[in-house]
This record gives sequence, C-alpha cells and structure tokens, in this order.
Amino acid sequence: MKYIDEYRDPNRVNTLIKEIQTTIRKPWVLMEICGGQTHAFLHHGLDMMLPNILELVHGPGCPVCVTPLEQIDRALAISILPDVIFTTYGDMLRVPGSSHDLFSVRASGGDVRIVYSPLEAITIAEANPLRQVVFFAIGFETTAPANAMAILQAKEKKLKNFSVIVSHVCVPPAMEAILGSKSNRVNAFLAAGNVCSVMGYHQYPAIAKKYKVPIIVTGFEPVDLLRGVLLAIQQLESGQSRVENAYQRSVTFDGNRLAQETIYSVFQPVDRKWRGIGSIPLSGWGLRTEFSAYDAETRFSVENITTKESSLCIAGQILQGLKKPTQCTAYNKQCTPQTPLGAPMVSAEGACAAYYHYHQGV
Ligand code: SF4
Repeated sequence: MKYIDEYRDPNRVNTLIKEIQTTIRKPWVLMEICGGQTHAFLHHGLDMMLPNILELVHGPGCPVCVTPLEQIDRALAISILPDVIFTTYGDMLRVPGSSHDLFSVRASGGDVRIVYSPLEAITIAEANPLRQVVFFAIGFETTAPANAMAILQAKEKKLKNFSVIVSHVCVPPAMEAILGSKSNRVNAFLAAGNVCSVMGYHQYPAIAKKYKVPIIVTGFEPVDLLRGVLLAIQQLESGQSRVENAYQRSVTFDGNRLAQETIYSVFQPVDRKWRGIGSIPLSGWGLRTEFSAYDAETRFSVENITTKESSLCIAGQILQGLKKPTQCTAYNKQCTPQTPLGAPMVSAEGACAAYYHYHQGV
C-alpha cells in the first residue's frame, strides 16, 4: 500500500538504525511526546533496535492519562444522574476515578454511551429532547477542533439539552513545564506530528532556543520515528538546538488555520491541572464566556469534588520522563489492564499499557 509501506520498509529502517549507531557518541535522553509514538516504538520493536546509550522516555501526550482525577470524578457524578445520557470516547470507560469508573456505572444501569465523534453526541441530543446529553471533551489540540464544532452546532441548533465537560490540554506548555523542572532529564523532543498538523510548529522555535533542546516534528511510522531520532541525535552530537520538521507530508509551520480559528472561536486558554503532574499555567482550553451555557460542570453543580489517587501509581513521573513503567512497583502486579490503578495502563496511548502489551509485562 503506497504511503504506508514505504514508511515501514525494512531496508530503510535498517539504514536509519545504522546511521543512528554511527552518529551517537554520548548518552542522550529523548522524549517522544505522543503516546501514539510510544506505542509505535514498542509495537514495531524499534526501542530494542536502538543503541543502549540512547534512552527513550515517554511524554505526557496521552490525553486519557493526563485528564485530571477531579474531571473523571465529575464525569462519574454526572453519569449516574437519572435523566443523563453520558457520551464519551471508549478509552475513558476503564479509566479509574477515585472509587470506580464509567464502565462500572454502565454495568450498573447508567446510560453511558461510547461515541466516535462529538457530533454523534449532538445527534443523540436531538433524538432525546427530554434527556440531558453530556459529552466528555478531552484531548489535545487534535480533538479540540471537532469538539469546538460540536459546541458551535449545539448553539446553531439551539439545543438546550447538550453540554460538555471540557478537559482540553495543550502540548507546548507541558514541554516547558518538563524542561523547566529541576529534575528534567530530557535532552531532545520528538514533537507529536498529529498535534502539529493542526497547530503547526511556530510555537516551538522559542522553546528550543530558551531551553537549548532540539525539537523534531515526527510522525508515527517506523521510518518517521527513526528519522526523528536520527535528526535529534545529529543535533545533540553537534551542539545544536533547533526545530526540524521530519513530518513534512502532514505538517506545515503554521498548521491548519481553519481548525485553529474553530478552536479559538469556542475555547480560550486556561490554567489546567494534569493528572499526576499538577497545574500548568495556560496549558488547557476552557469554554469562552459566550458558550458557558454548555458547561456541564455548572449545569450539574459538580464543581466541588474530593479525590483519592492510588498511592502506588507513579504515572505523573512516567509522563514527565522521570521513570519507566517497569519502575513502578505495581506494574504487572496490582496494576494490569484488567485491574488498572492508573490511566496509563488502560489508555490506547498509555505507556504502561504499551509495555504490558509489547514487552509481555516485563
Ligand atoms: S503501572 Fe499502573 S500503577 Fe504503575 S504507573 Fe502505570 S498505571 Fe500507575
């Protein structure tokens, strides 16, 4: 198949691995931002082919993993209300809240429905005018345009029974939070190509300059990932720190302006808490005042929530590249995909799930 096979070509993969081996001289720590990239590295066994002195650490780019516990608990509180149809992406069902998850709400009779697009939630709201339909709007810059579109449609259709729990997060402030931390280990970033296809990479040169780190915009296939690694290593070994776009077939410097305008018409930057990491200034999007009528948190009065996180889960350290899943004492013991203690073990983009599935739990 054209456009995929060429990025999985074993000859190109082997050539890139050899180039990386001959280029690297010193130990470096490289963070791939996106959980999809983490899964691709492990799924294709690329992490096992790279030189030992190169350490891959896994970033915060798993939207399910960083959705704060308060928002999960708010979702759970709303989902059990009798007149509510709660809609969400499938990944969120098994994410543990303080005491239970949306899956158990559904098992005990709650009307929790999986949707593949927020526009499906709009359709459900139109079909059920006597019930309240709530959509859990999570994710990075990639899902924000569609979620903003759903809210614009709800307004246009004058829907009174549709609202959203907004928990959007943005990548650049999280990169700065990691780089600005005293415990930072990251020498270079592989930036998430999917996020950059929406937002471009015009925000990155200032970060690369300020923190003196190479940032390589990288895709998701083996050749994309290894090319991103090679460019990062070449820069690190020659003392450079700039932004390079290794995903030119999808990403431009400015990104998708129409998608950005859609986002900014509905959302505005807000401080956002990241699960396991804490609050990061202006790292999320919240509803603009003119759309506050669609805010499920105020519609259902669930602002005040007391949370209880697992004392064993070190997801926050993993998402900042400070530890690996296998360094968690609960990994593959108390915490498995069947008995998750933290979101990274259940999310399709979670680092702990990736290790469990592709490293056979070791
Ligand atoms: S293995 Fe489980 S408990 Fe440990 S960090 Fe991952 S999700 Fe949390």
